[in-house]
Amino acid sequence: MAEKTGKKAVRARELEKNIRYHQNRYYNGEPEITDDEFDALWDELRSLDPDNQVFTEINSESTDGFPKEYHLIPMGSQEKAADPESFTAWAVKMPFAHFIVQYKLDGASLELQYENGVLTHAVTRGDGRVGDDITRNARKMNGVLPELPGAYGPGGATPFSGGVRGEVIMTRAVHRERFPDKANCRNAANGLMKRKDGTGCEYLEVLCYDAAPGIPGSPFTGHAPFSDEIEKLDWLASCGFSVVHTEHCEGVQAVIDYRAKVMDIRPELPFDIDGLVIKGREIDPDDLSRPRPEKQIAFKFSLEEAVTVLREVFWSESGATYTPIARIDPVRLAGTTVQRANLVNPNMIAELGLRIGSRIVVTKRGEIIPKIEALVENPPDTTAIVQPDTCSVCGTALADEGTRLYCPNPDCPKRLHHRLEKWIDVLDIRSFGENLIRRLFESGRVRRIPDLYTLTVDELAAMERMGNQSAERVLRSLTAKKSVSLAEFVAGFDIEGIGVTMMDKLVDAGYDTLDKLFAASGDDLQAVYQFGSTLAQTLVSQLAVLRPEMEDLVDSGALEIKPPVRNGIFAGKSFCFTGELAGMKRNEAERLVKSLGGSAKSSVTRDLSFLVTNEPASSSSKSRKARELGIPIIDEPAFLALARGETIAVEPPEPAETSPAKSPQKDPGNQMELGL
Ligand SMILES: [Zn+2]
Repeated sequence: MAEKTGKKAVRARELEKNIRYHQNRYYNGEPEITDDEFDALWDELRSLDPDNQVFTEINSESTDGFPKEYHLIPMGSQEKAADPESFTAWAVKMPFAHFIVQYKLDGASLELQYENGVLTHAVTRGDGRVGDDITRNARKMNGVLPELPGAYGPGGATPFSGGVRGEVIMTRAVHRERFPDKANCRNAANGLMKRKDGTGCEYLEVLCYDAAPGIPGSPFTGHAPFSDEIEKLDWLASCGFSVVHTEHCEGVQAVIDYRAKVMDIRPELPFDIDGLVIKGREIDPDDLSRPRPEKQIAFKFSLEEAVTVLREVFWSESGATYTPIARIDPVRLAGTTVQRANLVNPNMIAELGLRIGSRIVVTKRGEIIPKIEALVENPPDTTAIVQPDTCSVCGTALADEGTRLYCPNPDCPKRLHHRLEKWIDVLDIRSFGENLIRRLFESGRVRRIPDLYTLTVDELAAMERMGNQSAERVLRSLTAKKSVSLAEFVAGFDIEGIGVTMMDKLVDAGYDTLDKLFAASGDDLQAVYQFGSTLAQTLVSQLAVLRPEMEDLVDSGALEIKPPVRNGIFAGKSFCFTGELAGMKRNEAERLVKSLGGSAKSSVTRDLSFLVTNEPASSSSKSRKARELGIPIIDEPAFLALARGETIAVEPPEPAETSPAKSPQKDPGNQMELGL
């Protein structure tokens, strides 16, 4: 527990440092990350350390001369979901199944305050309680009504008093034609609405989505011209406001499907949206006055998902399993171009209703291989996806468990042969070539992994094109590997989807001996990060099948499983290698890191401890990114010194730590426009 708290504190400090850094870059007009990425840092820090100093600094109110005004409608922060799983987790707790779904506009919030039907104040978000009164500017904006029609209350005698909430936006067309120098529509809108002289506000538009009658502490108690969210939107429209686009969805899946459709048309919309806002029909004032209302949620779009077309499915054969892989129209996902996606299994194809030609949502969240998350639609010319029905090697009818299509023949040569190759590969036994494995396998001498360890020099030397010397070399390299980690051991048995990385996660989660793994249930394993139910079930069933072979191997004494490294000198440290190393291969360096309790990473991320390269001044993308993120760059001798436990001098390119008291989220245009 204590260790966990320590890790959290370290991570929180890293996040705080990163937030300040990126905020600073933002104000210097050189943002390195997107708003969404910034939000992710922000949210993570909030969950780890809600009282962090950085929040009070950044949320403090702007002081650029506008009068201050209190909000009438409380403006808490919004619950957020960025993927269907987290949305579903929220939705199933809600006491309603009819969802009101609105575009989440990417602009700036504004509250219009009316007394007896007359506009008196227009207030920016500010800190959610008090904002800037920009009424003069707001009057110039499209969609701001100076007076409201209609009268309510007893005898229909009282015009509306209360607040109307909307979002100030700039359309993409206006941005393109008039303000192409501004980074995006939101920045442009934020800047214009806070100009002292109000010029340019005529290019802004306000789209409304909320209203509440009554002005606390005043004679304007207000009569509600509506009794639920649907009537509210109708009333806003009847007054003449432009209302945010709204859809009604019955049930959770309908919302998820609708979101996929909106993602598809999003590039063609006249304005920017960054997600959907979802709420129920009932108005719940108590909930709305919470700092973080629970009954509505922002279901955001993510950089890690996109809409494209499924063109072809081929069945990747690995061991016994046939995995459907989709070829898709190339699409950008989280900074990379993606052309293939994992369809995982036949169930996935059936559940999503996928066909060749389907328009689909493809995602890449943490996983290495993108997958298809949802069907947008099946245009009329789609065709069915064809699935193989017999094993391409032994001819056995394939078993379709839904979660897995495979050759059920336990002695299927393809499966056994592949397992041997995998073992040699995972243990990195270099002199044991694929050709040799194939010959030993086809001769029937080696069918299972333990068979490898009964080979003798004489036997090998007697094989064609194999002299005594090579036979000795091959056996030496095999038996030199006397001790392996549990992760390598299990990954070497070629269980679908279980590589060293995934095994490392299990070991980290406490499944650090074979016996603990054998005893684990599917539910146990599913609780480990990134283990879906399919993968967990596959592992449990395959461990049961492979247990005798695994135990034979351990009992033979050919090798031992070494206990996991705890508190090694690299514990909690991560290393990424780039370029050539002089004294070792990259995978050897990575093994060294792991053997000392550290982790090896393939890319430069914010939480990386060291980038190791012998060309520190290189302009490779990894070096550049490490410099930008302030991650120490060390060379091979320094890395080896660290591994020996020595102290080295490192001068990280420390980013300037300034703390402007403005949130990039809330009023990014502010600073940009000062002095205009
Ligand atoms: Zn087969």
